[in-house]
Amino acid sequence: MSEITRTDVLIIGAGPVGLFAVFELGLFDMRCHLIDILDRPGGQCAELYPEKPIYDIPGYPAINAQELVDKLLLQIAPFKPDFTFNRMVSALQRLEGGGFRLTTDEGEVFEAKVVVIAAGGGSFQPKRPPIPGIEAFEGASVQYAVRRMEDLRGHDVVVVGGGDSALDWTLNLQPVARRVTLIHRRPEFRAAPDSVNKMHALADSGAIDLVIGQVSGLNGEGGELRSIQVKGPDGEVEVACTRLLPFFGLTMKLGPVADWGLNLHENQIPVDTEKFETSVPGIFAIGDINWYPGKLKLILSGFHEAALMAQAAKHVVSPKERIVFQYTTSSTSLHRKLGVPD
Ligand code: FAD
Repeated sequence: MSEITRTDVLIIGAGPVGLFAVFELGLFDMRCHLIDILDRPGGQCAELYPEKPIYDIPGYPAINAQELVDKLLLQIAPFKPDFTFNRMVSALQRLEGGGFRLTTDEGEVFEAKVVVIAAGGGSFQPKRPPIPGIEAFEGASVQYAVRRMEDLRGHDVVVVGGGDSALDWTLNLQPVARRVTLIHRRPEFRAAPDSVNKMHALADSGAIDLVIGQVSGLNGEGGELRSIQVKGPDGEVEVACTRLLPFFGLTMKLGPVADWGLNLHENQIPVDTEKFETSVPGIFAIGDINWYPGKLKLILSGFHEAALMAQAAKHVVSPKERIVFQYTTSSTSLHRKLGVPD
């Protein structure tokens, strides 16, 4: 078994609600570690609508979703949370002596006294492109996320797609891979204009190849790709390819949460409205993932749930400590935790 990382509270999901939970838990001196499948914090806000304004965050008549995430990160910085990105929590088990053990899809092991499930709509999972036989190459030759750029060093990398992920990885991998080819079905790209300009400059200078067309076939054996076929306006061409990175967007699926022995209500986790605790004591669920009568899937609701959950979590983490209600405005002890000067 790999080395165990221990913390007070393990938060599954670094969306807006998971992030704010760090603040509420931090006020009660609980250390937090957040794990997310995505490669950055922010959940739906960062992944689905970063540039859209939100109009119902108290105190902000309008705030862009990414800006809200950035401000949440600033707000929780005094509590120094640990983050593990690009990992899915795949298993959750109760420990005999109390607490929980969580395992990621890459085999890392975490132990915590309390688990907070802030998994939103579930796990973001990549959409599989309609390429015949692709399953046989998934894992090694076909990758839907780049976990370590170094693993792609010296490879003939083919990136497929026209959005931000496809363009970002084309630019980032160009100096690392033996050769990068970007394939998109049409000459227009949805990605940020700056990235598109940079990509065209690399293609014009011959540093990468840009091919307009669709992947129609895969050549290789034993799970290892050698080349791919691309059907374009001028017919079919063969492109050298040992690593294929399709970026066709993400869908949300409940994922492994469904296998953890918790009661479920239409793919959501029922909780009480005093502690936001699940059917398993010590496991809480906040934000879009939970359900109770009258539940509204709003960021605002998740923030409220985080505040109440933190009080209950403190009883689990430090059962002998008395909880004192304090305002952040006037409590000098909270000011010290937040780094507010006297
Ligand atoms: P999420 O933001 O969904 O984050 C959950 C995170 O958990 C994800 O990053 C996911 O990758 C991760 N995760 C899930 N399972 C696992 C696992 N097993 N292991 C590791 N990580 C996991 N709300 C408002 O209040 N106002 C609005 O105006 C508004 N506008 C919206 C507009 C759009 C287009 C959309 C899509 C949503 C909008 N919402 C709005 C809803 C709001 O975004 C959600 O309520 C909010 O994101 C929920 O936050 P969360 O932290 O609970 O979950």
